[in-house]
Amino acid sequence: MSEFSLIKQYCQNIGAAHPQTRLGVGDDAALIDVPAEMELAVSVDTMVAGVHFFPDADPGLLAHKLLAVNVSDMVAMGAEPKWATLALSLPNTDEAWLSAYSKGLNRAATHFGLELIGGDTTSGALVMSLQIMGLVPKGEALRRSGAQLDDDLYVSGCLGDAALALSCMTADSELPVAQSLLNALHQPQPNIALGVALRGVATAAIDVSDGLVADVGHIAQASGVSIVIEPPALPLSEAFVAQSGEIDLALYGGDDYQLAFTANSAQREAVQTIARKIGIKLSRIGRVQHAMNNAVMLELQGELLPPKAHAGFDHFEK
Ligand code: ADP
Ligand code: MG
Repeated sequence: MSEFSLIKQYCQNIGAAHPQTRLGVGDDAALIDVPAEMELAVSVDTMVAGVHFFPDADPGLLAHKLLAVNVSDMVAMGAEPKWATLALSLPNTDEAWLSAYSKGLNRAATHFGLELIGGDTTSGALVMSLQIMGLVPKGEALRRSGAQLDDDLYVSGCLGDAALALSCMTADSELPVAQSLLNALHQPQPNIALGVALRGVATAAIDVSDGLVADVGHIAQASGVSIVIEPPALPLSEAFVAQSGEIDLALYGGDDYQLAFTANSAQREAVQTIARKIGIKLSRIGRVQHAMNNAVMLELQGELLPPKAHAGFDHFEK
């Protein structure tokens, strides 16, 4: 199969068409008409076989996860995802794989309101890189740098499910892993409405991809504050508790793609109203404290303790 027929068959007409798209797949570049009152939020995330996923993973699920991890970055900016370009490196042109992958892409892109407007296709190791673009009203994007003294810290959904699923899968055990934990790992569900609703409410936000402590640490660093996390307040799912997940998985495990954010304590009602309207759990799990070298601290029984060193995933420091 040629490169061009592959693109035509599997990468064209993917997702939701937008009126601002002037030109999609097929030319040297795509063209987008960005409305004057909006800013374009741009981000890219790569998934490498053997690093981010097992090479024999279900192609439809891979496609979903590739889109979801990128949408998660848009949510963390308060942006609405609109467009994507896909750089795909493939070891072969296995048509069953490509067909399942393309269907998964289309399903997830439609679900998230994304339109695939271009990309690049090469042969090589299995690597997929998705660049995502979204729109946010000028000046309203959520940044990591806005956390203020005495703000509350919140997180969406539950923590640790994906890390627990991964640890069960790699533990070589015969015990079945609860489906909801596997779903958290393979099909993260970033909530676009949440990012939008938090514009003007959250002072800082980040998506939890490398682990709660590591990612909240990025807010602390960027904002020049210290943040106290209360481990007993972390939201854990029933399946997590039933499978005896350890609290460390919720504190340090990656791949949750939940949203961590700070908000002034005067916004507690507003935050819970958003939670109810969207139908998502938002838990208050800590607070911003006077600057103690911009660190994250854990509060256990009234005592402040430093978290584990080198918590969180880092590709170059293992
Ligand atoms: P060029 O040689 O000008 O870079 P290509 O031959 O790589 O163009 O791609 C042809 C068209 O197909 C371009 O519009 C490009 O954006 C699109 N395209 C290539 N690969 C993909 C892909 N994996 N997904 C979506 N669009 C793609
Ligand atoms: Mg090209």
